Amino acid sequence: MSTNPRYSVVAPIYNEEGNIQVLYDRISAVMDSTGESWELVCVNDGSRDRSVELITELSVKDPRVKLVNFARNFGHQIAVTAGLHHTSGDAAVIIDADLQDPPELILEMIERWKAGYQVVYAVREERKGEGWFKLLTAKLFYRLIYRITDVSIPLDTGDFRLMDRRVVNALNAMKEHNRFIRGMTSWVGFKQVGVKYVRQERFAGETKYPLKKMVRFAMDAITGFSYFPLQVMVYVSFVMGLLAVLAIPIIALLRVILGYQFLGGQVTNIVLLLLVSSFQLFFLFMMGQYVARIYDETRGRPLYVVANTVGFEQAAQAPAASIAASSSPPGQE
Ligand code: UDP
Ligand code: MG
Repeated sequence: MSTNPRYSVVAPIYNEEGNIQVLYDRISAVMDSTGESWELVCVNDGSRDRSVELITELSVKDPRVKLVNFARNFGHQIAVTAGLHHTSGDAAVIIDADLQDPPELILEMIERWKAGYQVVYAVREERKGEGWFKLLTAKLFYRLIYRITDVSIPLDTGDFRLMDRRVVNALNAMKEHNRFIRGMTSWVGFKQVGVKYVRQERFAGETKYPLKKMVRFAMDAITGFSYFPLQVMVYVSFVMGLLAVLAIPIIALLRVILGYQFLGGQVTNIVLLLLVSSFQLFFLFMMGQYVARIYDETRGRPLYVVANTVGFEQAAQAPAASIAASSSPPGQE
């Protein structure tokens, strides 16, 4: 029986064939320099390229490399969740597979962890090689989330972070289906600190986050940690109600005293109708977002389905919490 590694590095993989070798080279160089034991848990999130083959080859050469192979694409946050379920280190690091997060920063994270912090998150000081649209939406997104959520989620911080085993266990015990991991890690508490870094360009390939996935991600973040969209309706209803109450006597007065046909045209009615119904539909949509998530929870489906795993021994199984969450027990080949 092997003992648990000191560090677990988790990398979600979706069509990253061009990055896997370099990712392994850089992570193993960094982790070896700690002089302590480590594992690299790759979660294949339904890649259609050679990613699985490449990871399996690495795993044969270096048994510290492990693979959790999903039955299909379940999304980035779910892949990271599955990775965390399958880790056994005293500390776990989440890192993107495209090398936008420099593995060398892990050493600084480890230092802080040893100094007594349970969560060390990486703060993007600058982002390289990303278009203005991504930069602008990311900037707005982080600020919106910061304002409207109940937990304080640090600005410009992605999932690149180190977490103590206690934090990982707490996350593994959270069963929600629509997961916003950086919010969840803030929610659990503990002593947290940020380290700054410059976000690099993608090493190879394209972003796997098209606009549709970005919107979904933002919705998960908002609905998961804020009731603001539900509460803001009350203000809009107050303002509209007040306008209506004021409008009635004013219009009546103008008509009776001055004989003035105020706002009589059909066009005005149509515009107002469109405006008000677009407000209402928008808030209905927001409510729907919450309702759909309640439905997700009540169905109680597993978070993901594992097709197979590579490199896990029976002894080094994931904690019990994850087995309940995953439909096929890890560690079976
Ligand atoms: N990813 C994933 N499943 C997905 C989309 C992305 O596992 O459905 C992985 C991807 O392989 C990468 C990480 O999540 O390791 C971050 O994705 P990406 O670099 O495309 O996002 P961006 O940095 O552009 O926001
Ligand atoms: Mg990326």
